[in-house]
Amino acid sequence: MKRRTFLGAAALAVTTGALADEKKSVGRAVVTPASDTIEEKPRNVPVVQQCDVCVLGGSCTGVFAAVRAAQMGAKVALVEKQNAFGGVATAGLVNIWHKLISNKGKEQIIGGLTQRTIENLQRIGAVAKRGHGYGLNTEELKIELDKLVLEHAITPYLHTFYASPRMEGDRATAVFIENKSGRQAIRAKVFVDATGDGDLAKDAGLPFEIRNGLQPPTTCAKISGLPRSADGMLKLIAQHRDEFGLAPDHGWGASVPGSSGVEMCAYRHVFDTTASDANQLTAAEIDGRRQIRAYMDIARKYGGDDNTPCLLDLASTIGIRETRAFTANYKLTEDDVLQCRRFPDAIANGTYHIDVHDPTTGRFKFKEPRGDFYQIPLSTMVSDKTPNIVLAGRMISTDRSAFGGIRVMVNLNQTGEAAGVAAALAASRAEAVSEVAAESVREHLAKLGAVVV
Ligand SMILES: Cc1cc2nc3c(=O)[nH]c(=O)nc-3n(C[C@H](O)[C@H](O)[C@H](O)COP(=O)(O)OP(=O)(O)OC[C@H]3O[C@@H](n4cnc5c(N)ncnc54)[C@H](O)[C@@H]3O)c2cc1C
Repeated sequence: MKRRTFLGAAALAVTTGALADEKKSVGRAVVTPASDTIEEKPRNVPVVQQCDVCVLGGSCTGVFAAVRAAQMGAKVALVEKQNAFGGVATAGLVNIWHKLISNKGKEQIIGGLTQRTIENLQRIGAVAKRGHGYGLNTEELKIELDKLVLEHAITPYLHTFYASPRMEGDRATAVFIENKSGRQAIRAKVFVDATGDGDLAKDAGLPFEIRNGLQPPTTCAKISGLPRSADGMLKLIAQHRDEFGLAPDHGWGASVPGSSGVEMCAYRHVFDTTASDANQLTAAEIDGRRQIRAYMDIARKYGGDDNTPCLLDLASTIGIRETRAFTANYKLTEDDVLQCRRFPDAIANGTYHIDVHDPTTGRFKFKEPRGDFYQIPLSTMVSDKTPNIVLAGRMISTDRSAFGGIRVMVNLNQTGEAAGVAAALAASRAEAVSEVAAESVREHLAKLGAVVV
């Protein structure tokens, strides 16, 4: 390793000045940015899979895309960098799914694989009703998603990172992946990008922006023995945060269904983070965990004699709310969401309010939709510029405010299902994804059990 590169790696340490007074510090890891380049020699890479549809990213969005594509008769591969499927819900510990019914008419507007997953988890006591929504045991969700993948003969690649595409003109003909077996390639007719950050879409040249005022990420934890309710703990943190080096902030918590007093804590934010930047992501992971040590210390010191706080589980990845925002054939707007506009190519329905976490204070700013429910059109997921890539999940094409509403899982799960159907249709007909008739996608979704309005 070159000396300069080695120093770069060695510099990955919490700033020493901050360590001098640990309790007062808000230390951030620093990594020296690359200052030179080296040439990588061309090499032949083994093609481990040739399929119709390759899904990158295995949250529920990605798994549901893979399942729907398989149900359409496609041969499917699914690539996930973590050791389990589920994305923010499992690796990030976030355990709330919102309601499946409309605001006013109380009619069912979300069904499909979201409903099936809830029902399967309900049978084993891994779901608790929260108003009209649901609290999930997300460890059980991991196993449920494994089952779904295997039942549908999808080829799973866990511990596998999508690295780059092989492009021929504007089409991706293969992707290079990296895992314990080295660098490999998967050829596919169509790709679904469900990586959250849109890693493939970016590499394929789809236009995107990193918006000003990104919603900041949060490291979640499961903790037992906290004082009374989440609210009580949040008040304690607000009272004592200065002593433990925490900035003013806002958060929330939710109990873990079936547990005795275990709280899923999303109490803080890591501000000033662009999580699609590797160095900033590294620093944010370390700072997110530091924050949890700080509020555990608050609980230990001020939580009262009856409580013995115990940190049971740290998210294996920081929960990322927002990174790259892509522009596809249509950009969903705040007005579309608030006015509950109907779209002929609608593939998802939602009610969750616009919820933007302030990038400096962490406060949640809400705006309520004025109708029964809003819709997400297929045209936010496909672009004429990338004929064989479908977007699914949080990177779909929206403005900042609309994003604040559509970003919840019950909405994004539906984009996964629609992406799988659209990708399978495009692969079977050798069409560009943007040429697939939305009516056909909607018909297939309805036949497969989704609620299509
Ligand atoms: C702290 C927090 C609290 C939230 N609270 C709620 C809530 O209560 N309810 C709710 O519904 N929503 C909530 N949200 C929002 C919601 O969780 C996310 O918007 C949603 O999960 C995003 O889904 P996704 O499928 O787009 O992305 P992700 O869930 O991030 O999935 C992307 C997947 O792709 C994988 N991946 C990424 N890059 C690569 C790569 N290069 N190669 C291979 N795999 C890759 C990741 O490991 C991951 O599994 C919250 C978000 C956060 C961060």
